[in-house]
Amino acid sequence: MIPAIKSNEIEREIFQRELDSFVPDKALDAHAHMWAGIPNQKNGSGLSPWIEKDMTVTLFHDLMEDLIPRRTIGGLLLALPMSIHGLPTTTPDSVTFQAEHIAHQAESDSTCKSTMFVSPKLNPDFIRQEVKRLNIGGLKCYHTESDRNPTTDSDIPEFLPEEFVRIADEFGLTVTLHMVKPRAIADPSNQHWVRTYCKKYPNMKLILAHAARCFNPVWAIEGIASLKGLPNVYFDTAAIGEVGSCEAIIEHLGHDRLLWGTDFPLTHWRGRYVAYGNNHCWTGPEDAHDDKQDLYVFHGLEQLRVVKQAAWHQRLSDSQVEDIFFNNLAGLLGMAY
Ligand SMILES: [Zn+2]
Repeated sequence: MIPAIKSNEIEREIFQRELDSFVPDKALDAHAHMWAGIPNQKNGSGLSPWIEKDMTVTLFHDLMEDLIPRRTIGGLLLALPMSIHGLPTTTPDSVTFQAEHIAHQAESDSTCKSTMFVSPKLNPDFIRQEVKRLNIGGLKCYHTESDRNPTTDSDIPEFLPEEFVRIADEFGLTVTLHMVKPRAIADPSNQHWVRTYCKKYPNMKLILAHAARCFNPVWAIEGIASLKGLPNVYFDTAAIGEVGSCEAIIEHLGHDRLLWGTDFPLTHWRGRYVAYGNNHCWTGPEDAHDDKQDLYVFHGLEQLRVVKQAAWHQRLSDSQVEDIFFNNLAGLLGMAY
């Protein structure tokens, strides 16, 4: 069942007071998850009640309309990683089942593009065939498909093999990459592989999810400059709670590399990510005393506050803000309007 979550009075007030005059009329979400429903899951997570039913673009529009009213919102519909949140393991059949649903959803809406999940467990020829057959716009990989233990220490090719990047280059696809390793883009191996793939495959568009996974801005401040000079690397703002990471991207690479993204449906969780020490964590109602539990607000609103603060600190113009919310991704996806 998809939880019936509605904005409350505090959330509506925050949107009206702080965000209504900031968010442009049209926006493309670079990181909006979409899935075909999987009933009776085992190995569930907080996402599992959502995943029992199909997520559709109609439902996406309805939920976003409540969070960010009176906007036209489309985006890049990201496949969920297989084998987690109760999804089945990666096989050609399980991946196709999801990819067909997402492609079908994207077909029905000119503001949306589809992606498909890729894993080293899949044959590159199978991926090439499905990309062609379903007119897929982008690839989505995830570290949980790596053989390394723990997978969070994986080098990028262990879950995004070079052959898949070659396919993205061949078809001009986006690749959404949530890098791992404790220090994200401050890690030399991550810097090396991003540079190598981007230089060798210039027609592939690499989107580094979660601001190159810089939930703690110290990693972005240290590492982002290492990506200077690459024309095909981009960053989504999904789930980022600290303004310093977005600022480092704008400062070193320019606002035209930043893409608003939400990690929908995590937009509709209440809470946010915070940085501490050399780490980061989620904080939500479960961390608060009883009388404070209701004061957490939608994660999607907290993320908009971050983008607004970054734009303000970096003195961005209205048209540069429109680029972050719409034009940058529209250009990448070849959307005509
Ligand atoms: Zn995500």
